[in-house]
Amino acid sequence: MNRMKLCFLALSENEVFARNVVAAFALPLNPTLSELSDVKTAVSEAVTNCIVHAYPEKGGEYWVSVECETEENRLHIIVTDSGKGIEDVPRALTPFYTSCPGEERSGMGFTIMQTFMNEFHVTSAPKKGTRVEMTKCFGGTAEANAR
Ligand code: ATP
Ligand code: MG
Repeated sequence: MNRMKLCFLALSENEVFARNVVAAFALPLNPTLSELSDVKTAVSEAVTNCIVHAYPEKGGEYWVSVECETEENRLHIIVTDSGKGIEDVPRALTPFYTSCPGEERSGMGFTIMQTFMNEFHVTSAPKKGTRVEMTKCFGGTAEANAR
């Protein structure tokens, strides 16, 4: 078992930072390139949502947190913000639903996370923030893959 916590400002350049840190953290589990790419894509979508949607006010310091835990061949990821929250989570999870259709958003972020990860769960409260929990199971144990 291993754990890490990462906190950073909700700035667009931190999307690449966050997904690469999570990928580096997952490496001891010997993921395949395709599994690693799934994880990076899911983290990008979750972090981008915090950056784009959570904090519509401008100015001030707004934080995103990414926590990871490894357990055997599984990587658990929790992405949280303390922003505006989501009023209707089931609607937000609907493929192609976006609250900002004029901004080249396709409304597929949550659907991508669900597809690329083995487990996926969102909890959110208006004006409190949003928490996305995801788990990826890698093909085999580190020992098995090293053989
Ligand atoms: P895309 O991800 O395809 O660019 P999108 O971000 O609008 O488009 P989703 O990622 O599926 O699509 O999110 C759906 C909707 O859920 C968003 O339009 C937004 O209204 C809401 N949402 C998602 N994440 C957050 C968040 N962290 N805080 C507040 N609202 C959010
Ligand atoms: Mg999105």
